[in-house]
Amino acid sequence: MSDYQLYHSLGQGGPNDDPRNQNPNAPQAPNQFQPPIAPSPYQQSGANYTPQGQQPPYGTQQMGAPSPYQGSQDQGYFPNQAARAQAQDGGLAAQMGGLGLGEVASHGRKKKKDRHAYHNVEAPSGSSAAFNGIPPGGVPPSAYLNADPSAMPSPGGQFLNQPVTPEMSQFPAPVNAPFNPVNPASPGQFAARNGAAPDGFAANVQTSAQGRVNPDEIPSVPRSRDAISQYYLSNVYPTFEHHIPPPASVSFVAFDQGNASPKFTRLTMNNIPSTSDALQSTGLPLGLLLQPLAPLQAGELEIPVLDFGETGPPRCHRCRAYINPFMVFRSGGNKFVCNMCNYANDCPPEYFSATTPQGARLDREQRPELMRGTVEFLVPKEYWNKEPVGLRWLFLIDVGQEAFNKGFLESFCEGIIVALYGTDSDPEERKVPEGAKVGFVTFDKDIHFYNMNPALDQAQMLIMPDIEDPFLPLSDGLFVDPSEAKSNITSLLTQLPALFSQVKNPEPALLPTLNAALAALEKTGGKVVCSLSALPTWGPGRLFLRDDGKQHGDAEKKLLNTEHPGWRKIAEKMVAAGVGVDFFLAAPGGGYLDIATIGHVSASTGGETFYYPNFVSPRDSAKLSQEIMHTVTRETGFQALMKVRCSNGLQVSSYHGNFVQHTFGADVEFGVVDADKAMGVMFSYDGKLDAKLDAHFQSALLYTTANGERRVRCSNVIASVSDSAKDCMKFVDQDAVYSLIAKEAASKMLSASLKEIRGALTEKTVDILAGYRKNFSGSHPPGQLVLPENLKEFSMYILGLVKSRAFKGGQEPTDRRVHDMRIIKGMGALELSLYLYPRMIPIHNLQPEDGFPNAESGHLHMPPSIRCSFSRVEEGGVYLIDNGQNCYLWMHAQTSPNLIADLFGEDKDSLKSLDPYSSSLPILQTHLSAQVRNILEYLKTMRGSKALTIQLARQGLDGAEYEFARLLVEDRNNEAQSYVDWLVHIHRHVQLELTGQRKKDDSGDNSIASNFAGLRPPYW
Ligand SMILES: [Zn+2]
Repeated sequence: MSDYQLYHSLGQGGPNDDPRNQNPNAPQAPNQFQPPIAPSPYQQSGANYTPQGQQPPYGTQQMGAPSPYQGSQDQGYFPNQAARAQAQDGGLAAQMGGLGLGEVASHGRKKKKDRHAYHNVEAPSGSSAAFNGIPPGGVPPSAYLNADPSAMPSPGGQFLNQPVTPEMSQFPAPVNAPFNPVNPASPGQFAARNGAAPDGFAANVQTSAQGRVNPDEIPSVPRSRDAISQYYLSNVYPTFEHHIPPPASVSFVAFDQGNASPKFTRLTMNNIPSTSDALQSTGLPLGLLLQPLAPLQAGELEIPVLDFGETGPPRCHRCRAYINPFMVFRSGGNKFVCNMCNYANDCPPEYFSATTPQGARLDREQRPELMRGTVEFLVPKEYWNKEPVGLRWLFLIDVGQEAFNKGFLESFCEGIIVALYGTDSDPEERKVPEGAKVGFVTFDKDIHFYNMNPALDQAQMLIMPDIEDPFLPLSDGLFVDPSEAKSNITSLLTQLPALFSQVKNPEPALLPTLNAALAALEKTGGKVVCSLSALPTWGPGRLFLRDDGKQHGDAEKKLLNTEHPGWRKIAEKMVAAGVGVDFFLAAPGGGYLDIATIGHVSASTGGETFYYPNFVSPRDSAKLSQEIMHTVTRETGFQALMKVRCSNGLQVSSYHGNFVQHTFGADVEFGVVDADKAMGVMFSYDGKLDAKLDAHFQSALLYTTANGERRVRCSNVIASVSDSAKDCMKFVDQDAVYSLIAKEAASKMLSASLKEIRGALTEKTVDILAGYRKNFSGSHPPGQLVLPENLKEFSMYILGLVKSRAFKGGQEPTDRRVHDMRIIKGMGALELSLYLYPRMIPIHNLQPEDGFPNAESGHLHMPPSIRCSFSRVEEGGVYLIDNGQNCYLWMHAQTSPNLIADLFGEDKDSLKSLDPYSSSLPILQTHLSAQVRNILEYLKTMRGSKALTIQLARQGLDGAEYEFARLLVEDRNNEAQSYVDWLVHIHRHVQLELTGQRKKDDSGDNSIASNFAGLRPPYW
């Protein structure tokens, strides 16, 4: 098995930096993903639509209405900041005087070292059969696309038609579709993989004669996303051959070649320095971003589920690592050497297979656990802590006064019906997996249980009056199969609003309800989905208005946490019982809910909080309904434990995310875990790594699936090791770097002040860029800002983080801060990317083909997105801006009446005529309507847990305009600098560092360079 021993010889890149780099060895095939198309009778280019060349068809050039945004490149949205901006500009502009851009020194491409050439490294690539028609490596795609798959030649073909011997089929018995072997690449092909990334990027930070930076020249997030997304429309990402994953915000099909897909695992560095000192010279964190149940997309292989029977999967006897593609078989197959701890294990007799002279098992290609980076093992009883059963969903429904008045109760009940049974247009018999059950509890100041037994004519309510000492008033009938009890469930949920329209208790008792829910789920584990529309001020654990909006510093910090013993205790007990909570919270009148305390329960149990700070029923019902649907139908597991193992020489230093970890070094525990949840793992050195070997990482999530199977999901990741940190810089994964930094920063919120965290984020950015400039960048003029090729947009993402609701300066309700802090801790890479830098798409000047599928490839033609800056906004323009949480449709005051009519209907001809509570676009027979609805459908597929509905932000009319302005992250807003000024500021500090003048304890003028010495170990 020496063929897997080395991840790659140095100098291998990915296609990301240059989409033209086509790897002749990679499976070249179209991305199979075809976005859904909006429902419409109209799918053709319209005859009634005449594109006017390059002219925006709806542009209104004659106008000159005053705008609050005008000149916002120089001034912020908020007037008081504009004044400060003017004062600062002089100084900053002067700073930029030294930031000239010379010719970018050409650094000779790193010569490929040949010291690893003796390693016979094979990279498997896809067989057509295993890969949905995608041809195997090394073959031009055209040769196979229309070919008969059975006739495809393949080097691995000797196995394809080979009869399965008893020895092969003995273990494991695959539970899902049979796994097809892949084709090894020859060493020559492997060595010929595409070349190195240029190892430096001189930021094109041009200064004009006045010393101003040209904002067009600084690295662009939208451009970098759009450029690479084209490449991945026609190419897959082969996980072993390429070493820098695609950006998370791009749609791509990963092909698991034994190294886990970046959808599940992203390392900050795919080539790791051999020593701690070398890592430190880069300033970068060494970490792993994990999203263990991440959704797959069309064209990607299902995760194999393997059953090793009573013995369970083979594991290392010393470190307990699970069998994986990188374990090496020796002694004719009698021993396997662990890739984590190097221990030579005896191969269990039932797992024995003879090996080839090269050490590869003869049955390797029939064994997914030796071929695939991510697999699932069914596990025997010793992995149980209770008998696994199907997931029990318990819906806790707030039926109090505020919930009724707001329409939240009605929307929540409708959402549950849609989640369980689909809509009329999309009926589906079974939305939750077989074996899963549902139950219902309502509460105000009392708690009501429902016997849903399908044998009853209708649901029976049982009131539990004693909320001081909650008990379960029924043993049977609380949990039912949603299909069998459909009529009782739908009639109960339909009648609830009317039922409680007369009662209207103003004060909900939430903690007793959660305790009752725990009592109902304690034996089995399960998931609670709970709505709440008012501060729970009744009964034990009642909460009160803590945040009056006037507290800062330490007092504010206290509001971000909860000391309430009752709430902390319920969270701990739930995790221990394998129970987790998702909350759907609507604040009355945008008021205070104490999310710090309530949300503590969801954050600790691995759940999620959906927060509607200003719920308006007609506008937000669709979003609420779709989000309930998503939470119920996404892949969900419960009673989960997670452990990450790594090679000798490294150790896990910390985990960051929403879970419970009782002691340092213990497994992290989740009541529930779902497809959208991610966590960060940080590593430190406890020795020196051997540059002749690779570094290995394995995450293992032990959990119970929704249909009641106890499984371990294993993802294996490999990174090469280098003595030269300069080589490592070529394999940095930007998304992983800022995600790890963001998650770590969020976890500091309870121990450090916001000002300290912002300061630390700035310092971290300076450390990384100064480290690069000092150690790796080669020769550049001294005044030049030089950014690592793979971290070009890194500074912008960190600025997005500094501007996030969690960390921004100035006033922000603590409910919103703490909510955003927790979602940052739980978000996957895609969701976080959009959260930090939204997509902004102009729709007033779409090309005719935009928003329609390409006739040949079937891919939707997406218009380019633009920089999030008001300076990019055109007169009369209309823009979609989506940060993965909310999507706004911003319309300029002078929007053309034709455009409004094309988008909203002929009876609408002005901004004022639109319904401010629209949450979707009507289905119209216009070209523009089809385009924009198709674009929205595509965006719905590229996000995390939040549903996409639109919210109108009409210039001068809607309050949402302020949200739109917040999301223009390149401008001066959110109490922080513009992107240009931020780069200037960073550059200035990099220069100070290079000349030895950087003061780390400079308390600074604008909360940037504060003292955070206490925050620095080990990565701060
Ligand atoms: Zn081991």
